[in-house]
Amino acid sequence: MKNKNSPELNSRLVKCPKCGKDSLYSTENPYRPFCSERCRLIDLGDWASENYRVASLPDSSSEEEFSEDEEKNN
Ligand SMILES: [Zn+2]
Repeated sequence: MKNKNSPELNSRLVKCPKCGKDSLYSTENPYRPFCSERCRLIDLGDWASENYRVASLPDSSSEEEFSEDEEKNN
């Protein structure tokens, strides 16, 4: 009989996307694919600030619309 779900196959070493160190990619590592909580938080912080910049764009475009309307009145 063969064990189909070998736990060794479910965990492997990957490079941490943040610092490049070896990190355990398995259910034992809650921060996977990152090596630690710190790296995961840094990456989430980067993503959140990028997202914030994109989300603020619609505000400035509605301002443009307003000034365009002003020009027509001129
Ligand atoms: Zn790391």
